Amino acid sequence: MIRFDRVVKRFGDNVVLDELDFAVCPGERVTLIGPSGSGKTTILRLLMTLERVDGGTIHVGEECLTHVRRGERLVPADEKHLRKVRRRIGMVFQQFNLFPNMRVLRNVTEAPVHVLGQSAADAERRARELLDMVGLADKVDAFPTQLSGGQQQRVAIARALAMSPDVLLLDEITSALDPELAAEVLDVLRDLARTSDITMLCVTHAMKFARDVSHRVLMFDNGKIIEDKPPADLFERPEQERTRAFLRSVL
Ligand code: ATP
Repeated sequence: MIRFDRVVKRFGDNVVLDELDFAVCPGERVTLIGPSGSGKTTILRLLMTLERVDGGTIHVGEECLTHVRRGERLVPADEKHLRKVRRRIGMVFQQFNLFPNMRVLRNVTEAPVHVLGQSAADAERRARELLDMVGLADKVDAFPTQLSGGQQQRVAIARALAMSPDVLLLDEITSALDPELAAEVLDVLRDLARTSDITMLCVTHAMKFARDVSHRVLMFDNGKIIEDKPPADLFERPEQERTRAFLRSVL
């Protein structure tokens, strides 16, 4: 379960999220849509603990991401706590962010070995399974620059899954790809959605994908959720004029 309670996030005078509440159940796949600047990426970055809240709390499962208890008081989480909770969350970014100096296999085994303390053999076995799952069994020895963008993004997905996260965050992961390569990446995620019960929170402009895999779509405008519905309802019967205008611009 992911839970945002009255979350406030500001950048200077710009209030990006103003007392935002929402929850995602375990195993749910939720897509965030909305105009540029409406706060979608900020939500993922807060979950990944790459940004700090200015108010409110965020929970993932039983764990509070934003605060720790000191005696009777709740105080902002320290770096040690953040490192612990961060392990439970996987994130894939628009710009693959692979380690350029490491071969594909090592990109996937690096964090399980160095962060989770897995043995090299166990990490390698799991990495090969995941690379097979994303269709890259034959690329384990390649360097990232020898791969297409779509292949690099599939390595990034395998790398995130290698940490066995409770939650997978996907931030416009096909925006930098040609349509054909984007389709390969989205097919991998469709398979993942069909075969696993990982919780997914996804920001995307790929509306057909959102429709196919999401249980719920949240429409954001100015840091607020203005519609929260199953995709068929949201895409076919949007209630808000703002949602209709947004969908006209992207469909
Ligand atoms: P897009 O679809 O363009 O990625 P978004 O809905 O994901 O947009 P965010 O990236 O969350 O929007 O940005 C929300 C607001 O916060 C924007 O006004 C943006 O300029 C601002 N913002 C985001 N990150 C920072 C930062 N590091 N410093 C200052 N302002 C920021």
